[in-house]
Amino acid sequence: FLADKDAKVFVAGHRGLVGSAILRRLLSLGFTSVVARTHAELDLTRQADVEAFFAAERPRYVVLAAAKVGGIHANSTFPADFIAANLQIQTNVVDAALRCGSVRKLLFLGSSCIYPKFAPQPITEGALLSGPLEPTNEWYAVAKIAGIKMCQAYRIQHGLDAVSAMPTNLYGPHDNFHPENSHVLPALIRRFHEAKACDAPEVVVWGSGSPLREFLHVDDLADAVIFLMDHYSGLEHVNVGSGSEVTIKELAELVKEVVGFQGKLVWDSSKPDGTPRKLMDSSKIQGMGWKPKIELKEGLVETYKWYVENVVSDK
Ligand code: GDP
Repeated sequence: FLADKDAKVFVAGHRGLVGSAILRRLLSLGFTSVVARTHAELDLTRQADVEAFFAAERPRYVVLAAAKVGGIHANSTFPADFIAANLQIQTNVVDAALRCGSVRKLLFLGSSCIYPKFAPQPITEGALLSGPLEPTNEWYAVAKIAGIKMCQAYRIQHGLDAVSAMPTNLYGPHDNFHPENSHVLPALIRRFHEAKACDAPEVVVWGSGSPLREFLHVDDLADAVIFLMDHYSGLEHVNVGSGSEVTIKELAELVKEVVGFQGKLVWDSSKPDGTPRKLMDSSKIQGMGWKPKIELKEGLVETYKWYVENVVSDK
């Protein structure tokens, strides 16, 4: 892959957190023919449109980072949207990638929520389908599991070189900073920032603060995606994590410090905690020679700066 920088690479979902990071990385590496379409230009849930796009563009590589995503609240409020859109997007893209005949390799991105709620920690790739899922995001998880299986089935039956990467909780520039529907890290950045701006005495944080989460900066993920495009052609999906975890309470304290909020934290126990712990075992990709570079504190400082410059100033 890295020896083929003039080949056409289609990044699906290039405006999102993950796709935009992959696009930046490809361009900085010197890829000359990266193709991308906005949602308005190409609706990936429409099969005929996706087929026409692949037939016209004939990409050699595909990175499938387009998905309908959201935090714990969005997943439980819009279950139909999460299962339907994700199944449609991935089915259309993987199938069109095979049918157009030009695709040499495809990488599908999932998420750590594909694993059972009580999977032994750290979670290995082998834990897939070994127990019940976390109910708050099972719709999304079932779609992503189907995506992994689709890549495997297309490899087995048709010889399509389709691989899957499962990142842990991600954060960074271009994240969704919606107050209710985002993930915890961008939600807290926004809430602490707004509280600081209006001198509010306190900030509400959801749940008990005790769940443990692992966070990976999206630039580290982009690096891992390029690495896998270049090094990996296996049947099994590959975990991509940072290996370090924090409690939600520790995360909230860290965001508070980075934002510079002086008030106190209030815990809203009426909100769900979700899965108690979610740490990936990333020894498979690390054993191949990849490792993360960005520390959480450093990544948070940079993400907060991006939020202030791009989200706050746009209002
Ligand atoms: P999850 O990792 O799939 O559970 O997704 P989230 O990022 O939405 O939530 C992670 C944890 O952070 C859960 O225990 C939430 O209850 C907790 N949390 C605390 N405050 C917030 C918040 O403002 N938004 C979100 N999404 N989660 C929060």
